[in-house]
Amino acid sequence: MSVLDSFIAGLPKAELHVHHVGSASPRIVAELAARHADSPVPTDPEALADFFTFRDFAHFIEVYLSVVDLIRDAQDVRLLTYEVARDMARQNIRYAELTVTPYSSTRRGIPDAAFVEAIEDARKAAEAELGVVLRWCFDIPGEAGLAAAEETARIACELKPEGLVSFGLGGPEIGVPRPQFKPYFDRAIAAGLHSVPHAGETTGPQTIRDALTELRAERIGHGTSATQDPALLAHLAEHRIPLEVCPTSNLATRAVTDLDAHPVKEMVAAGVLVTINSDDPPMFGTDLNREYGVAARLLDLDAKGVAELAKNAVEASFMDEAGKRALRAEIDSYTAAWRG
Ligand SMILES: [Zn+2]
Repeated sequence: MSVLDSFIAGLPKAELHVHHVGSASPRIVAELAARHADSPVPTDPEALADFFTFRDFAHFIEVYLSVVDLIRDAQDVRLLTYEVARDMARQNIRYAELTVTPYSSTRRGIPDAAFVEAIEDARKAAEAELGVVLRWCFDIPGEAGLAAAEETARIACELKPEGLVSFGLGGPEIGVPRPQFKPYFDRAIAAGLHSVPHAGETTGPQTIRDALTELRAERIGHGTSATQDPALLAHLAEHRIPLEVCPTSNLATRAVTDLDAHPVKEMVAAGVLVTINSDDPPMFGTDLNREYGVAARLLDLDAKGVAELAKNAVEASFMDEAGKRALRAEIDSYTAAWRG
């Protein structure tokens, strides 16, 4: 491990773009698979590691869906959520806005109230026992259409768990125009939630513009194609609309052709508030620490620069001011004490 990598590993961090099911590590999947003996997912660690090795996007979807298939009851939901927080604690992630897709579970027959209770129970335990503060982004799986949007908005607005801070939209962008989801975002925003759709990951800057104007996005998930439109980039910078950048994910999904071609440098140069995130870390063979390492290389950062990047995530988060102050102070004192 390089000196900078060890700085990153110990650095207190916040993560803003990371998916619930997509965070299931081989260790967690083995535990879930052991609970459901009929599942085709291997429980043996070696076979599981092989299963998890990223081959291509189709294989990623296969892995993702087979993990979804292991989330069958409220206990599975609770186990997954708590164990994801444990993996975060190991990376010194102090705060995470976890993107949760309630629709994937309710359509499989887990009652909405039981689902919400399970994540909330795990959230409280993770905070008390692991020191990881979790908040939720409930997101619409775009490929499942308006019925999923309706169900997600209903659960968010009716059950509105204490940890819920935002409303999102994921899934494929091609063939799934953002504007059709406006009424659901309007409801979520009226209920006090922040708007954080994915946009501009696999489509051009117009999708980002749609997310801003139609869905009133306060942050953009990915926003990779923003650099194709200088006026849009200037708008994001001027209005302090952060981008949730996930470099390795962008490579895995072919949103960028290679990491060195990632536009993160142009985003930063344009004055955009850039945050670094891991998206679906075990499925893309990464974690947040690695993503910071990638970003440090692409942006040519030293420890101080990496600490600033970590503070961007604090600023872009939906933490209250006291929480932001405390995490910034923790980052500063860690950095000041660092003898690399
Ligand atoms: Zn994502």
